[in-house]
Amino acid sequence: ARVVDAGSDADERTVEAALRPRRLAEFPGQPRVRDQLSLVLEAARRRDAVPDHILLSGPPGLGKTTLAMIVAAELERPIRVTSGPAIQHAGDLAAILSSLAEGEVLFLDEIHRMARAAEEMLYLAMEDFRVDVIVGKGPGATAIPLELPPFTVVGATTRSGLLPAPLRDRFGFTGHLDYYNAVDLAAILTRSARLLAVEATDDGLAEIAGRSRGTPRIANRLLRRVRDYAQVHGQGVVDRAAAQAALELFDVDGLGLDRLDRGVLEALCKRFGGGPVGLSTLAVAVGEEADTVETVAEPYLVREGFLVRTPRGRAASALAWEHLGLTPPSGTSA
Ligand code: ATP
Repeated sequence: ARVVDAGSDADERTVEAALRPRRLAEFPGQPRVRDQLSLVLEAARRRDAVPDHILLSGPPGLGKTTLAMIVAAELERPIRVTSGPAIQHAGDLAAILSSLAEGEVLFLDEIHRMARAAEEMLYLAMEDFRVDVIVGKGPGATAIPLELPPFTVVGATTRSGLLPAPLRDRFGFTGHLDYYNAVDLAAILTRSARLLAVEATDDGLAEIAGRSRGTPRIANRLLRRVRDYAQVHGQGVVDRAAAQAALELFDVDGLGLDRLDRGVLEALCKRFGGGPVGLSTLAVAVGEEADTVETVAEPYLVREGFLVRTPRGRAASALAWEHLGLTPPSGTSA
């Protein structure tokens, strides 16, 4: 796995759990979502009612799971955690819904990947706090309505556009998480260093923040690698020199590009004069599958303006040439 991958595996999630902020007040960044959530939760508390259902959307690693846990903590309610892919049958969801306690928070990660039949059951449950439990099979099957105590769904999705409108409409509040700026990432890293009992300088953490692609998960991962480096090669202090040396070792450059990202840009600039060139030709030049180039490398390169998708293929921007220290051929306009 790439050290700059925004996703995580089960082992990493165990490490991450210790670094999650527990309350809204200690959650750095996303000021807009934080203020909106704070209002929604406070108003519900004053009404002594459950808040509206909450949808959190945004790319991986930006804190959707963390915020879901915070919602439950702020409401002082228990949280049940499950995910769309784990709900492949309506019965899976019925079992969860029928065992919820009053006011409980139901966190549905990757909600866009839930089975269609379960989605329909969820609309009804969110709207009317009721499920129809089907008893029996075939023509003799009967639906027995079951009243549920009020609860709050917190849904998380990287693709809110994939949610069917009726489901999206059941959420009273949607928070859109965006990439973090370097100042907020540095604040996150300062907190993480303290929790990990790692001594760090401000410029060391700023160096890591600048290479973290706006993503706390990546920032925390890079911090752990720099800590390893500082422990083995230095005095255990995460300073700028340790950050630079460690991240060079792990192939993460000053702007957070790794070997694959740079390979794509270098092929574009050096072999195809900056493009445009078709995706499959570019992929062959990099020695990767077209799918890898398109889904793994391109999103960040496009987002940061290094690469442009044109109707005639991929092209390098002026920024790409500059970042690689190359001079674009005269007359290029990309
Ligand atoms: P995914 O979509 O992959 O499930 P996610 O958006 O749910 O990702 P989280 O699991 O909440 O992301 O966060 C990933 C890691 O980043 C966690 O260790 C979490 O502590 C940390 N993190 C995310 N946002 C923040 C933040 N604002 N402050 C501090 N740490 C954060």
